[in-house]
Amino acid sequence: MYDDNNIFARILRGEIPCKKIFEDSHTLAFDDINPQAPVHALVIPKGKYVSMKDFTEKASDAEMAALTRAIGKVAELKGVKESGYRVLANAGVNAHQEVPHLHFHIFGGAALGPMLVKK
Ligand code: 5GP
Repeated sequence: MYDDNNIFARILRGEIPCKKIFEDSHTLAFDDINPQAPVHALVIPKGKYVSMKDFTEKASDAEMAALTRAIGKVAELKGVKESGYRVLANAGVNAHQEVPHLHFHIFGGAALGPMLVKK
């Protein structure tokens, strides 16, 4: 069930500001408010999707293509295309997804270390 009052839904409605990086008819990208790397961007679909499961089951091919292209575009716009970056999407409780609207993090601008915290 999609929560219409989640923070990214409110950003999409213009109720909360964001530092926009890129936008097209299906996708919005903006800087994360609490960056975990020198570059930390978020890429979200404009449609109401909670997770990748939701998105891949319900989104149109055009929405999926736009989101994928936006990730590459944002890496370029943020200047990390050549130096390298990490794309990550948290889904559900085990991944600590905080905002229940599908989003891809793009991290870069420095060496990012291991993919997961070693136990
Ligand atoms: P998650 O844990 O769900 O994968 O990540 C949610 C991300 O959204 C976090 O990195 C958090 O800093 C970011 N975030 C939460 N609230 C806001 C906000 O109001 N504006 C922006 N730009 N980012 C937010």
